[in-house]
Amino acid sequence: MGERAMTQRDGTCWDVVVVGGGAAGLSAALTLGRVRRSVLVIDSGEPRNAPAVDVGAHGVLGREGVSPLELLRLGREEVAAFGGRVVSGRVAHVRRDGEEFSVATEDGQRVRARRVLVTTGLVDELPELPGLAERWGRDVLHCVYCHGWEVRDRAIGVLGSVHQALLFRQLSKDVTLFLHEGAEPTEEQWEQLAGLGVSVVEGAVERLVVDEEKDRLAGMRLVSGVVVPVEELVVAPRFVARADFLDGLGLTVREHPMGIGEQVVVDGSGFTGVAGVWAAGNVSDVLAGVPQAMAAGVGAAAAINADLVMADAGRAAASRVVGPGGDVCTGPTEAAVSRRVLGARAHGLDGLVDGG
Ligand SMILES: Cc1cc2nc3c(=O)[nH]c(=O)nc-3n(C[C@H](O)[C@H](O)[C@H](O)COP(=O)(O)OP(=O)(O)OC[C@H]3O[C@@H](n4cnc5c(N)ncnc54)[C@H](O)[C@@H]3O)c2cc1C
Repeated sequence: MGERAMTQRDGTCWDVVVVGGGAAGLSAALTLGRVRRSVLVIDSGEPRNAPAVDVGAHGVLGREGVSPLELLRLGREEVAAFGGRVVSGRVAHVRRDGEEFSVATEDGQRVRARRVLVTTGLVDELPELPGLAERWGRDVLHCVYCHGWEVRDRAIGVLGSVHQALLFRQLSKDVTLFLHEGAEPTEEQWEQLAGLGVSVVEGAVERLVVDEEKDRLAGMRLVSGVVVPVEELVVAPRFVARADFLDGLGLTVREHPMGIGEQVVVDGSGFTGVAGVWAAGNVSDVLAGVPQAMAAGVGAAAAINADLVMADAGRAAASRVVGPGGDVCTGPTEAAVSRRVLGARAHGLDGLVDGG
């Protein structure tokens, strides 16, 4: 990445630097470009769903099943078409610098921004079982809405989560819950699992068994040595926001209410509570799929633009020179003249009053 790639042609500060160019960041950049904001996206090129490149991104209306990487390639093209710039790089830190921010990459480049949007996604912390990480996004899955349809009617194993077992039972009659190190089901849950015909395997799992020839998951080997055949495995990762590199900014990172991970705290617009900093997508909503991440990016972009509009309007008003040799048309003067000249016709109300 060359120095020029990140700096504005006229050397001015970017209106917005977006840290992370996944579904959320690119949607935000598209929205900002379309209202003529100068926007730079810095992206380290590791979207969360990249391992599912062959499975596709599902539930994305109008692009159902699209390759996750193709979706982002199209997004980058659309951002560029409206003047946004997307560069490769990993942001090392963001610091406040007066009214602006200084954004630095790991390779030592630095740019200035009036506002910062964090869309860095999350890290899926997977259960530690031999053979599991290698198959993540292929036949080791977590999301019923992302890939439930693709594994319908197959032999599905679920690792340690009653909730996931019940969700996937909607897609297949052949569901096996491996209790492994998960919590013991409650009395009520045992009844539900039995009622729905979900098999339950007690005892710890040792590793995944893979059919090397077919390059497919074949089963789960228990510590006892027993192998239970399954074709797909559902796990419940811990979701951890990628926000530790922003330590100095003062963002609040909090445990998700469902105890499934941690995320940056934002309000409905994506505002973090730290002046000038917004966040959107998985970094602030660990349950968001691609469409939700896109929507959050658009929402944050609109909030940032509104904030900049007010800042620009305030600055424009303050910069007007009043007095001898200055601009006599101040806001209050204009209003007084308008009242004197137009009287009841001000705001076009006279026609309504006369009924004409
Ligand atoms: C295996 C799998 C399959 C999935 N399938 C689906 C599906 O079918 N449908 C669906 O709706 N959802 C799916 N999801 C969820 C989907 O991945 C997320 O909803 C989506 O990626 C969130 O978008 P995002 O922009 O918030 O984060 P991401 O897409 O993860 O993008 C974040 C970007 O920020 C970059 N980044 C991180 N840190 C830095 C830094 N310091 N500096 C610069 N850049 C940085 C990353 O490299 C990445 O490109 C799946 C998830 C997984 C794990």
